Amino acid sequence: MGKPQVAVVGGGITGLITAHRLAGAGFDVTMVEAGDRLGGQVRTEDFAGLPVDSGAEALHLAGPHLPELLDRLGLSDEVVRARSGSARIWDGQRLRPLPAGVGPTGPTRLMPVVRSRVMSPRGLARAAMEPLVGRSDVESDQSVGAFLDRRFGSEVVDRFVDPLLGNLHGGDVRRLSLQAVAPFLAQQASDHRSLILAARARKGGGPPAFGNFNGGLASLIDALTDHPGISIRVSTPVSALVVEPERRTGGDRTSDRGGVGRGPRMRYRLEGIDGVWDGVALAVPASVSARILAPGVGEVFEELDDIPTASVATVLAAFPRSTVEDHPGFQANGLLVTSRAGRLLKAATFLTRKWPHLDHPDHFVVRLSAGRARDHRVEQLDDDDLVSRLLADLAAATGYHGSPTLTLVRRWPGAMAQLEVGHPERLAGVRQRLTRCPGLALAGAAVDGLGIVSCTASADRAAALIEAHLADARGALVS
Ligand SMILES: Cc1cc2nc3c(=O)[nH]c(=O)nc-3n(C[C@H](O)[C@H](O)[C@H](O)COP(=O)(O)OP(=O)(O)OC[C@H]3O[C@@H](n4cnc5c(N)ncnc54)[C@H](O)[C@@H]3O)c2cc1C
Repeated sequence: MGKPQVAVVGGGITGLITAHRLAGAGFDVTMVEAGDRLGGQVRTEDFAGLPVDSGAEALHLAGPHLPELLDRLGLSDEVVRARSGSARIWDGQRLRPLPAGVGPTGPTRLMPVVRSRVMSPRGLARAAMEPLVGRSDVESDQSVGAFLDRRFGSEVVDRFVDPLLGNLHGGDVRRLSLQAVAPFLAQQASDHRSLILAARARKGGGPPAFGNFNGGLASLIDALTDHPGISIRVSTPVSALVVEPERRTGGDRTSDRGGVGRGPRMRYRLEGIDGVWDGVALAVPASVSARILAPGVGEVFEELDDIPTASVATVLAAFPRSTVEDHPGFQANGLLVTSRAGRLLKAATFLTRKWPHLDHPDHFVVRLSAGRARDHRVEQLDDDDLVSRLLADLAAATGYHGSPTLTLVRRWPGAMAQLEVGHPERLAGVRQRLTRCPGLALAGAAVDGLGIVSCTASADRAAALIEAHLADARGALVS
């Protein structure tokens, strides 16, 4: 048996990490990407003479998957840490500081929330009762918003969880699945009676650390593709997967998704690229996976095609540094806008303040974000209107009315999968049905949750699955 051939479809961060892992395990890997560049939602732009990320801009350095990957790539010492500095929340009326100890899933400390005066006395009194609320049942999935409503009351959800977690996902926290988008929270709730008491028991920890690189996140993409075992094919969209049962490699049927039993050894062809593959990872949007799988494994079409998405857009804007730096509206790392404000602007990140590698003597770079599920304004507005509407919202929030000297618009159609209540169970069903195609793995933000940390875990899992299957198939042929 020659070296197993593996195709990884989709050259975003998930596909690239999967490919790197498999190449490191000694397989010949072909990376197949539809677009003319790699990185997907990770994209570093040359903007105002700086390496500015217009897609993902921060690595959340929580362990273990991402730090392990950076170590393996020799990038750990290159990481540039975000400057400390809080964000502010804008509700369309007032700009208020985000209290310390409040994260995407609500407060872990109550006193800073009390002092911030973000909440009404009634809302505060309700939130303070969290330790007295009985243990939550998290056995069955529920929305993260409903879960936190019950623990802290709706004000915490509307004033913190919506602008933090909801904005991150471009979605509605009262629809997003607790188990899919906040598994840590679900675990805490299952292990402890109270989230506040659990956080107190965990102690310390400090604010989360975020990283980037002097050359932007392109450094990560470059390091991942720099492997002799990976050949890259860009501008190569894959449209279908054809399953070719080859022969049985042993007596038993394949017993699980890992393919560890000696089941049928399958080979795959991909429409769009010549070759026969012993293993395939699909790391593309869910609707694309649905179509690719339709000819061979059509029964998973609906579940994958039905996953809703949000289209988002980012606008990079460079302002004259001297006019912005000391302006009172810009004295934080950025601002988050509640969905109830009804504004197009979802978040503004003051990149020059946040990142040491984006310091520039003349420019102050701000990143404006827009786009939520079921809100189609981003798709309807042309670039000029998008920029002017976002700048108007920024001016209303900060009181700064100056114009940028340079702007750049990036659109991310359908980029943010909405993993809503019931998603984990539906996905488990899809994966179960895919067990009849050993060596075929589904990965990426579209199915396993957005963010580079989740993508790293998802890629590790896909690579391990293919590796285990191919090791087994090889062992079976040798024996
Ligand atoms: C504006 C924005 C800001 C974000 N900020 C952060 C952040 O700060 N930190 C963070 O951790 N995460 C952030 N995220 C989320 C994070 O970027 C994504 O979750 C992650 O990059 C998704 O990676 P992926 O490889 O799973 O998917 P993608 O990046 O979407 O990659 C999928 C790839 O598949 C390719 N493809 C599609 N169809 C085909 C086909 N038929 N054949 C072959 N290839 C195909 C696409 O061209 C694409 O390259 C952000 C996302 C956006 C959009």
